[in-house]
Amino acid sequence: MLLVHRAPVVLPISAPPISDGAILTDAGFIVEVGSYAQLRGRGQVRDHEGAILLPALINCHAHLELSHLAVLGQRQPLQGDMTGWIGELLAARQHSADDGSSAGRLALDALHEQGVALVADIGNLPGSAKIGEGHPVAVHFFLEMLGFSQHSAANALARMQESQGDCTSHAPYSNHARLLVAAKQRANSRNRIFPIHVAESRAEIDLLLDGSGPLRSFIEERGFWDGSFVPPGCGAVTYLDRLGIIDDKTLCVHCVHVTDEEIALLAARQARVCLCPGSNRQLGVGRAPVEKMVRSGLVLGLGTDSLASNPQLSIWEEMRLLREDHPQLAPATVLAMATRGGAQCLAAGDSGELAPGRRADIIAAHAQGITAGKADDFLTNAGKNLRVRWVEEA
Ligand SMILES: [Zn+2]
Repeated sequence: MLLVHRAPVVLPISAPPISDGAILTDAGFIVEVGSYAQLRGRGQVRDHEGAILLPALINCHAHLELSHLAVLGQRQPLQGDMTGWIGELLAARQHSADDGSSAGRLALDALHEQGVALVADIGNLPGSAKIGEGHPVAVHFFLEMLGFSQHSAANALARMQESQGDCTSHAPYSNHARLLVAAKQRANSRNRIFPIHVAESRAEIDLLLDGSGPLRSFIEERGFWDGSFVPPGCGAVTYLDRLGIIDDKTLCVHCVHVTDEEIALLAARQARVCLCPGSNRQLGVGRAPVEKMVRSGLVLGLGTDSLASNPQLSIWEEMRLLREDHPQLAPATVLAMATRGGAQCLAAGDSGELAPGRRADIIAAHAQGITAGKADDFLTNAGKNLRVRWVEEA
């Protein structure tokens, strides 16, 4: 059935805002986007008074299986390095009989209520692939590999061979170089994206530069320092690039501690970057050089990370925090990260904008009296309390 969704403001993202706009849809797909005057009479009209219509949001990075550890993410923001938090997280997981799937499902429900259509979910438990089964939010699950020592890397390689689904590496400081390369090659052979935590904390860079810092002690204390790691003497992006891991299917998550040269390198390789302002703030790791990334033309998306490092999973809140951290960013740029940029990060070309042929994953944000010119400013400042409903789900 042809439907004409009409609203005072329509934000296609891929085109300028439209006053008294309309979206023509047919069986879960978008046929045309324009003014109501252009599309009236083409289908049954659904009036969305006082609303802004826009594409559903995309969460490029979460760990739903950590949702039962929300107590870790709801404390006062931490300061300094994040190794203390990693230790607490590992201990909490070890001592909990809960696999996080029930809380993960609830977290997914909350994402749906906020208008999120797609989430890239990272987990260490193979069973976590089931958290998103049958849920209205599309979940792209990646089984994450850990293995810094030669022995643990060999175990991870065996796990990866047994796995049927998509796999990924956790980070340069938790994966042996051999494991990093094998995981990336496996993803390439399946033509899948490869999300990886990159340059999240200063401690990661210290370890890579000369094998020093709090991560060195952390790894030694746990018995994974077997002498096989040779510090590459460079930053995380440069290290991964030397291993052949940075390309247009690599999604670099966080990228807080990157140099200007590394931003240029990421842009030259057409790598994707997922910003996590909320988690970065909670763990006290610093702010990513977002203005420089935007100027370099990098494809940027937004991720919440997990409830263990973020008080809430809300892409609306990530946009608000990003603008607070970087007041120079244009609101339209930030909104594009939460929608079209996210779709590009996750290679989901049928989502993230209102355009012919795209999925009709359309949301209505309650915004009485907001004009087309002010819509992206309003939405990116609204935060988690914004009222949203689904107009149509593909
Ligand atoms: Zn993460």
